[in-house]
Amino acid sequence: METTPEFISKKTWNKVLNYIALNDEETPYLLIDKEVVTEKVSQIGKRIRNSKTFYAVKANPDREVLKLLNSLETGFEIASEGELNILASLGVVPERIITSNPMKTFKFLDQAVEYGVRYFAFDTVAEADKLARYAPGCNVYVRLSVPNEGSEWPLSKKFGVEMDEALALLVYAKEKGLVPVGITFHVGSQCNNVYNWNTAVDKARDLWEAAEQQGLKLSLLNIGGGYPIHYTKSVVDIETIEKKVDKVIHQKFPSDIDIYIEPGRAVVGDAGVFVSTVIGKALRGDENWLHIDVGVFNGLMESIGGIKYTYVVGSRSSSEKSWTIAGPSCDSFDVIDRDVELPEPEVGNRILILSSGAYTISYASEFNGFSIPKTILI
Ligand SMILES: *Cc1c(COP(=O)(O)O)cnc(C)c1O
Repeated sequence: METTPEFISKKTWNKVLNYIALNDEETPYLLIDKEVVTEKVSQIGKRIRNSKTFYAVKANPDREVLKLLNSLETGFEIASEGELNILASLGVVPERIITSNPMKTFKFLDQAVEYGVRYFAFDTVAEADKLARYAPGCNVYVRLSVPNEGSEWPLSKKFGVEMDEALALLVYAKEKGLVPVGITFHVGSQCNNVYNWNTAVDKARDLWEAAEQQGLKLSLLNIGGGYPIHYTKSVVDIETIEKKVDKVIHQKFPSDIDIYIEPGRAVVGDAGVFVSTVIGKALRGDENWLHIDVGVFNGLMESIGGIKYTYVVGSRSSSEKSWTIAGPSCDSFDVIDRDVELPEPEVGNRILILSSGAYTISYASEFNGFSIPKTILI
């Protein structure tokens, strides 16, 4: 593990190796490099005028991570009372919290309103009715459906409506006493296709114009999340995405509107390194299997949706083999990856999983009795 892998900084890598060497911590656990998070936060939004960042808490709701982000004065995007409670306990003011989940539970909505949250997404008449009843007079933005091609984790089939419906919903919200302030969309998570943002912003522009013709005065464009990180392949960088997005917004929207960005993965993803242990090896048929102590159920859930991680093993051997990598549970679903080229480790060796700071611990369960891994900031 002496050589630094390609896309992690030498500084982070040294911190990780030092932590492992100096601490006899039981694996698996997740290390998060605070400096990487800080750097990412300073990068995001930098190229988009009038923008504010609202970190999507579901990517990693670890208390220490949220504390760090709070100290960096980001906003937060939340969807549940659990997420709200952590932020409340950290003293985050409601002005820095929005909720873009188009379907809110009654309990959450109640508590969010009580806390003073004023910004809510919606994409149905039923949700507008619910908001009008439980959050009268609040600010609402409609979720527009946009292309998710090129995203490794598409979201467009679950939420979002087409133009005509979105327009009708904004008008309806106003009739119901809500304040329709704007439009949101999500290009899909881990989106490596910069044109998705262009298409989405164009579509939002058409809706914006149509809304103005109906006498609605909008002020907010929320461009959602989706910024990608490096897992095994290089991706389009944030600066490139933002320059393009800023240009289109500047050409096509009034210059004084607010832009909200809701990154989750890009804030914490590549700050994370999972530290795991090889617990077994097997030859099954003609496949080499590596069994490790973190798997689909206790941290690497996204692997079954197609996210491929980069692994680094401590090994004396230099020749590589092709491995199927599996987690510790007895479930046959618990296979993280296939055809991974790695030098052969010994049982008991460490195996590190890079870019694993987002959508890992937040998905983890105690299935089969394996505890949820700890998160440690370095
Ligand atoms: C999950 C989510 C995000 C964050 O998406 P990333 O792809 O992690 O950046 C942003 N906004 C909403 C509404 C979400 O549901």
